[in-house]
Amino acid sequence: VIPFSQVTGCSMDVEEFRNELHTTDREGNSVSYNPPRYEYSYNFYMKVNVNSPWFDEIKFKLNGGMISDRYSADYREAENEGREIKEALTEVREGVRSNIEAAKAPKIAVTCPHCGATTIPDASGCCEFCGGAISG
Ligand SMILES: [Zn+2]
Repeated sequence: VIPFSQVTGCSMDVEEFRNELHTTDREGNSVSYNPPRYEYSYNFYMKVNVNSPWFDEIKFKLNGGMISDRYSADYREAENEGREIKEALTEVREGVRSNIEAAKAPKIAVTCPHCGATTIPDASGCCEFCGGAISG
């Protein structure tokens, strides 16, 4: 299990295998079709980049068995799964980043022009006591 805060990126990789199909000629020899015919198969991989002292990339396969058809439900399913994982990781990563940025934002106490209290403005720049907007 990888802490999401260590995820620095991810991408989907589709590996395509091409296998030429053969037929037999009159002498029984295995020969290419003319034009050549191929059979394709696919593997989907998710590559997750991780900022960790032990490894920097995790690669895992999305499909169980080999997908033999570009237009099959299995192909679409693997593609969707990859997209969902990517979206989830991207969202989490952005959430983590904005939390870090929020934590880094300087907290400076100011004197509220409305109630005169010494206050640290909240996220929307308002006085924490009277709720009045503090400019600057
Ligand atoms: Zn105030």
